[in-house]
Amino acid sequence: MKKQVFIRMVAWSLCLLAACNRNEPLQPVEQNTGASDPALLFKASTNTGGLEEAVPSSLLSTLNKKLKAERKNYIVALVEYITDGAGDHMGRTLYYKDIGNKQLSHHWVPSDPNRDSRTNITWTIDQTELCADISEVRCINAINRAMSTWNSVACAKIPLVKITSTDTDWGYVQHLLGLGGFEGWAADFTHAGWQPAEFFDAIADDGSTYILGATFSFVWIDIGTGNPTDMDNNGKADVAFREVYYNDAFTWKINGHYDVETIALHESGHGVSLAHFGKAFRTTANSKLHFSPLAVMNAAYTGIQHELLPTDVASFCSVWSHWPNR
Ligand SMILES: [Zn+2]
Repeated sequence: MKKQVFIRMVAWSLCLLAACNRNEPLQPVEQNTGASDPALLFKASTNTGGLEEAVPSSLLSTLNKKLKAERKNYIVALVEYITDGAGDHMGRTLYYKDIGNKQLSHHWVPSDPNRDSRTNITWTIDQTELCADISEVRCINAINRAMSTWNSVACAKIPLVKITSTDTDWGYVQHLLGLGGFEGWAADFTHAGWQPAEFFDAIADDGSTYILGATFSFVWIDIGTGNPTDMDNNGKADVAFREVYYNDAFTWKINGHYDVETIALHESGHGVSLAHFGKAFRTTANSKLHFSPLAVMNAAYTGIQHELLPTDVASFCSVWSHWPNR
């Protein structure tokens, strides 16, 4: 198929989804994924947590050097971030390069003995570092609503159980970066607070100017080999715990730009083991960013989105519908 024809077909199918003007030409956003097709900015991943191009992260190498020196039985395997959608930066997944199989995806193990043999997933909010732009209670409630949205998907009962924490500055990554935080965790998934520019610049060059939020996944390793474990033999590395951080350099709103609940819903999607998906395009007329399919788990912010879209639900159900069985 000729490239022009292909792009036009993509444009037409995108118009069906986004109800855009069919005369409005679509242009690919600047490529930064190394994808070979010019119409494709961001590689779609499968609904079972398939991976984008594996991008090694020097930050994760630095963090894991410290964890290895302390002989911890976990490493940070990946960080997934979402961007503001304003420039040409798309959200990405960065990997720790020194683990054997980069194509492993990552998931919780039901009844994991390292997690007290529980079949629930606990979560908490670092209430010491909430968004400065809105009241604490509104910020907490926005995150609560996002968690509740994932917890109420009908195909699965995980359940997600909240642990309330009022006075601990959680954040293991934050601790490893020497920016406060805590050497440890209390919940499987922690909304570890709003961080200054320095934190996001450590993830990517000038990251603080375009990264809205980032989720770090720690996985258990075999101390002897250093490789991630797969105790339930499902082909996925076993998640130890996860942390999400939000960027204090942006202005945060409730039902405004940038909307806390929308980003919390996206990051919590990583918390429940979902990867990014959707292809990104920008219209030439107004430079507006579109994704196909539109989803909470798209890699950039395109506006307020409090409900899960069909691809999000399908992806979630493929990962969780048999929990705690396989
Ligand atoms: Zn993301």
